[in-house]
Amino acid sequence: LSSKLNGVFDRLRRRGALSEADVNEALREVRVALLEADVALPVVKDLTAKVRERAVGVEVLKSVSPAQQVIKIVNDALVEALGGGEGDTGARGLDLNAPSPVPILMVGLQGSGKTTTSGKIALRLKNRDKKKVLLASLDVHRPAAQLQLETLARQVGVASLPIVAGETPLQIAARAMDLGRRELFDVVVLDTAGRLAIDEALMDEVAQVKAATRPHETLLVVDAMTGQDAVNTARAFQDKVGVSGIVMTRIDGDARGGAALSMRAVTGAPIKLLGAGEKLDALEDFHPDRIAGRILGMGDIVSLVERAAETIDQAEAEKMAARMQKGQFNLEDYANQLKQIGKMGSLSGILGMLPGIGKMKQQIEGANLDQTILKRQAAIIGSMTPKERRAPDIIKASRKRRIAAGSGATVQEVNRLLKQFDEMSAMMKRMNKLGQKGLMRGGLG
Ligand code: GDP
Ligand code: MG
Repeated sequence: LSSKLNGVFDRLRRRGALSEADVNEALREVRVALLEADVALPVVKDLTAKVRERAVGVEVLKSVSPAQQVIKIVNDALVEALGGGEGDTGARGLDLNAPSPVPILMVGLQGSGKTTTSGKIALRLKNRDKKKVLLASLDVHRPAAQLQLETLARQVGVASLPIVAGETPLQIAARAMDLGRRELFDVVVLDTAGRLAIDEALMDEVAQVKAATRPHETLLVVDAMTGQDAVNTARAFQDKVGVSGIVMTRIDGDARGGAALSMRAVTGAPIKLLGAGEKLDALEDFHPDRIAGRILGMGDIVSLVERAAETIDQAEAEKMAARMQKGQFNLEDYANQLKQIGKMGSLSGILGMLPGIGKMKQQIEGANLDQTILKRQAAIIGSMTPKERRAPDIIKASRKRRIAAGSGATVQEVNRLLKQFDEMSAMMKRMNKLGQKGLMRGGLG
């Protein structure tokens, strides 16, 4: 079995590093794709520079081309730039962590979707989060605006602030917050007026309302279809008013969404929600990976490379599982396993291949494998000689001191690692026995 696995593994082994020429060639194609998707030129330049730095020298997976490998790196850089770091799925949603009533201020240009999004947010907060929501329209400029929100509130089934003719936006906001406090609302959504273009009067009005109500979230609503203009709008609102998050609407249209990247770069504010239609339930969490795929428009290639990487991880894991079963597990394997855990996110990928473990698997996973601990352990193993890794029993006091000094760890940490490894090997032996017994029983019964 294990020689077969080794064969698979060798065939999948990486095939050399990306050269500067590989990277430049692939980036030419990528640059066009990004510009077509409405990503601003400075942002494109920044991103490609980052990718170039990161990609040259990266090993190419066996079953993909250098260009495909670069595209995967671009995709990851895009996800990162959109706000999805390690262990961050990016589905941030709204932050309501404040004393009730939590004020949410909706700002943006006219027609961007502020009022519709207010209704969508109210629906979500009411149904999903069981919040008591009050909607208030501060739009005194368009005659029907307040009525529009009142109608929406009725459709959603939440309260709206009674309309009083002749009030200023500031007066309406004060009344809304007052009602919110008196009637114990959880959230008060303040929907403001927009203009067709940015002007001083609009910005002043919004800034005043913000100063008076001190909203916990100030959401800038922008239309994804407006491309580069959306970026200028975002910059202006961030400068003059200050926003805590962005809602991008009309992503149900055919815009590729490159504006999201630019807006994020320009404002530093996270994109929190997406509007995906006129209906009230067409509100989505923002997933950087999905938008990245849409911007780059090369989803097939990205998933191809991801699959290739998974296959290698799979082959590596299978190889390790085979060694475990044969009782050959040593510290070198343990170090490899630490790397795998980093990549796969858990031990389950490896342990899942061993027979008869169930409960123990849970125990191991429950042992709370902290990433920083994993890194330190990898460093400690890195300071051992190959002989020590293969036969940890020979590691006595003086070797421990040397290993600790070499990896910047303490002798206690070295001891802890060795103890953990011992326990793990012992458990694997037990698992082997269980597995074999299970097999025998199956065979006889
Ligand atoms: P406001 O002026 O910013 O308050 O914009 P509205 O909320 O009144 O929306 C203007 C128009 O855009 C309305 O016809 C909405 O139905 C429509 N709209 C809002 N959000 C979306 C969206 O995510 N997708 C689509 N297709 N239409 C939207
Ligand atoms: Mg409106």
